[in-house]
Amino acid sequence: MRPDILNPLFAEVEALPGVGPQVAKSLKRLDITRAIDLAFHLPTGTIERVRAPEASAALIGRIVVLELTPFETRQGGRGPMRVFTSDRDGNTITLVYFNNPGWAKKQLPLGETKTVAGRLDAYGDEWQIVHPEVLGAGKAADLPLREPVYPLTEGIANRRMRELAIAGVDRAPDLPEWIEPSVLSRHGWRDWRSSLAEAHSEPLANDVRNRLAYDEIFANQLVLLLLRQASRRKRTKPLQGDGRLTGKLQLPYSLTGAQRRVTEEIRGDMAQSSPMLRLLQGDVGSGKTLVALLAMLSAVEAGAQAALLAPTEILARQHHATLLNQVDSLGVRVAILTGREKGKARESVLMGLADGSIDILVGTHAIFQEKVGYKNLGLAVIDEQHRFGVSQRLLLSSKAEHPPHLLVMTATPIPRTLTLTQYGEMDVSRIDEMPPGRTPIETRVISDERVGDVVDGLARHIASGGQAYWVCPLVEESEKSDAAAAEARAAVLRQRFGSDKVGLVHGRMKGPEKDDVMASFASGKLALLVATTVIEVGVDVPNATLMIIEGAERFGLAQLHQLRGRVGRGEGKSTCLLLRGQQLSETGRARLALMRETNDGFRIAEEDLRLRGPGEILGTRQSGEVGFRLATPEQVAELAPIATSDAQLLLDRDGGLDGPRGQAARVCLYLFERDAAVGLLRSG
Ligand code: ADP
Ligand code: MG
Repeated sequence: MRPDILNPLFAEVEALPGVGPQVAKSLKRLDITRAIDLAFHLPTGTIERVRAPEASAALIGRIVVLELTPFETRQGGRGPMRVFTSDRDGNTITLVYFNNPGWAKKQLPLGETKTVAGRLDAYGDEWQIVHPEVLGAGKAADLPLREPVYPLTEGIANRRMRELAIAGVDRAPDLPEWIEPSVLSRHGWRDWRSSLAEAHSEPLANDVRNRLAYDEIFANQLVLLLLRQASRRKRTKPLQGDGRLTGKLQLPYSLTGAQRRVTEEIRGDMAQSSPMLRLLQGDVGSGKTLVALLAMLSAVEAGAQAALLAPTEILARQHHATLLNQVDSLGVRVAILTGREKGKARESVLMGLADGSIDILVGTHAIFQEKVGYKNLGLAVIDEQHRFGVSQRLLLSSKAEHPPHLLVMTATPIPRTLTLTQYGEMDVSRIDEMPPGRTPIETRVISDERVGDVVDGLARHIASGGQAYWVCPLVEESEKSDAAAAEARAAVLRQRFGSDKVGLVHGRMKGPEKDDVMASFASGKLALLVATTVIEVGVDVPNATLMIIEGAERFGLAQLHQLRGRVGRGEGKSTCLLLRGQQLSETGRARLALMRETNDGFRIAEEDLRLRGPGEILGTRQSGEVGFRLATPEQVAELAPIATSDAQLLLDRDGGLDGPRGQAARVCLYLFERDAAVGLLRSG
């Protein structure tokens, strides 16, 4: 139960004075529904205004506050409405309105002097202000010279947003301190409530923001450590394989040193009587599947069942096919369970799991649902886990009386600090070596003006028997529009190459439909696969050696890196063409240049974190993970290690959640809504 002290903060925004359904609706677009959301809606910068008696060239580019008198309005066709005004000195300043001309006219009657504020721009000889703020004459003093600016949405102007945010802050109570005193004093941080209030006032100070970010990171780390602690306390069956299956596995190659090392780490964990919690990081193509297979076979040797969770149906089927191929002859019984297995087929899998006649189950999220009862699940492997968040991990390992050993595999190269905040409860193994004989992928960045040349090149590639991927850009935060863009691109390419040669997959397609297309591509029937990022993870078609990524600047670098990893899987030399838009920022250029320069996923991730946010790195829209609302990537990088040891200290020295500091820490968990996780731990 949420501590009573926090109730005022968690009240709906409608409970605040002057907030009606209309304002509430606008706020909801910013995900603001409660007072606390307003209190945490922090300003992003400061407006600096200049009060001036008249306009002058020296003021161009500044936010000015002037007394102006309108003398003419003009609107031609669909163009903007223009109100010509003069200042005290007789200079003409044009006020420009792209929308709401009627309102502009009413606000600015001809001949009536007004106080007008906005950015003074010069267009040739003309001075203008677009969408100015307008107040009555002589009101310049009402506009502060410096004012924090907030992220806005239609219907709420900055001044109103600021009032609302402060109304949110006014509901904040004094809270007990959860931060270790030495950390607090080392940073010179003040108490939570003062810091929150200061975060909204001028000048915007970094140290108060750091304190608020720290709280959020601390809550996150505390949950992960509690999860780790709870897991360590659990008892489960140690699994020690005798090698009778792994020894017989027929492989056309030998393990890389890194594969051997991490396999040993995993075996060591599984032989313990507390459940394994291990993250396996390895770049695309580094051979994680084989490591998972060896772990699963060890579990089977020890008399337990193993389950492999794939993020998509396509990948589940691919894993299933690979596994069947590798272990059927060993007498290991492998089954698949996804949303597509229905009726009798489903029944028989469920029976086999319950009576133990299935050794290894592969599938999508369905495999860990309540209804699926295992006889003896000893090992759960989660492949490409960024869609499998902390709370799901928690459910899996805290519910069962004897929780399974857990191995999470990810190809997303994550910077160390992010690993700490995303997987802080886990031990980490890294595959830092590629199987031998890979030819590096050549990456080129090409302006999308040259898309015609690119299609010609693609034609030559296909004519010589090659296969290729064409990845379409993310259009918006919606699978629907991504799908539409991919469909449009596929239509154009089909005209050129023929419908029977070009396949299309996107997130809006049904599983079986997608699988059919993928299967045709894998078998070589299709030469070209047009896709959204659904092909991002795992798909393996060695003959596909050309990858074209449209709108490359809109992807996160790690995402580009993963997409690129779809090629370079066979003998031939592979190429990745990054098509970029013509308007590209400096950062955009630097990011794409980095892709050209290196194939090292970890380096790309570290640099991307520097150049952009972690949301981008992980592909926020796919992460399904509760992110940070306050902490920026820089703050995470700087503060996560400190917050982690602080949280550890709370557990080890200060008596955990039940000690005096723990009581305060509980409030912090509720403040950042990490309480559900704690509830789960308790019931587990
Ligand atoms: P990922 O880590 O991206 O899941 P995979 O497990 O799909 O990588 O492996 C990529 C490819 O490398 C597969 O075709 C696999 O058979 C091959 N492979 C894995 N281990 C080795 C190895 N030790 N030597 C050579 N090839 C390997
Ligand atoms: Mg894989």
